[in-house]
Amino acid sequence: MKFRADLHCHTTCSDGSMTPREIVFHAKEMGLSGLSITDHDNVSAYTEAIPAAKEAKIALGTGVEFSSVTEGRSVHLLGYDFDPTDPELKAFCERHVIRRRGRNKAIFSKLEKQGMKIDEEKFETLLEKGLPVGRPHIALELVEKGYVKTVQEAFDRFLGDRKPCFDPGSPISTRETIDLIHKLGGKAFLAHPHFLRNSRLIRQLLSLPLDGIECYYARIPSEQEAKWVQLAEKHGLLMSGGSDFHGEIKPMIPLGCSWVTEETFDKIFERHRWKY
Ligand code: AMP
Ligand code: ZN
Ligand code: FE
Ligand code: FE
Repeated sequence: MKFRADLHCHTTCSDGSMTPREIVFHAKEMGLSGLSITDHDNVSAYTEAIPAAKEAKIALGTGVEFSSVTEGRSVHLLGYDFDPTDPELKAFCERHVIRRRGRNKAIFSKLEKQGMKIDEEKFETLLEKGLPVGRPHIALELVEKGYVKTVQEAFDRFLGDRKPCFDPGSPISTRETIDLIHKLGGKAFLAHPHFLRNSRLIRQLLSLPLDGIECYYARIPSEQEAKWVQLAEKHGLLMSGGSDFHGEIKPMIPLGCSWVTEETFDKIFERHRWKY
């Protein structure tokens, strides 16, 4: 069977609907040979995923998806091939919890000024568990409270970038995030670059010490993939790929719809991988 590894997916440790153990066994069921779980701003999935991968006999490489900011624009970075128990990584993830806590508070206060009261306790409980609680959760709460009809309406009217109740908080820069990933001995990849839709920003990001670009993503057209592959080749960068599977939260995107070969898996995961 051909080796295929999906290097971008989310579990219940961030905003996915499957637990780490479930996603590992689901990968097996989907005919994948390898996986990297890339939860937002935390690596808690690995405690459960490492033994599960051994049991399922599937290759697992460590991963994470960090939120960062360059020139006020949100940039997602994938980090790969680090020790998930590194204390510096733990401290960095904790900084993200603090960042989200502060930012959520600022958003709640802006919402309250507009007459929308939010129960902060509920969010604090989730943050305490290390879950990266953010705008999608706040949007859902606004729907539940009846302030808006849909999550999209919540973003369009209040929570989207530059909308009246948005607050950037104190974001962590893309450069600082890349440096942290390198300090951990890992590799930093620019995630889903096609979302950025700004060639000047992409050029600027390519001047940073990135190790790779996510060229294969979910179901983007092959001509788009070719464009990123060409850019990666031009800059001597590695090429990653994955589905950005979230389970029931994004039901149109199945696990394994984008993947990399064994050769790429081995190039990316040189040290922190479990291969069976
Ligand atoms: P946060 O990490 O709290 O800044 O939330 C970021 C997430 O919010 C993104 O990953 C999207 O899922 C969602 N999001 C951001 N902007 C919008 C928007 N304008 N419309 C819908 N969803 C959005
Ligand atoms: Zn997500
Ligand atoms: Fe992302
Ligand atoms: Fe993602």
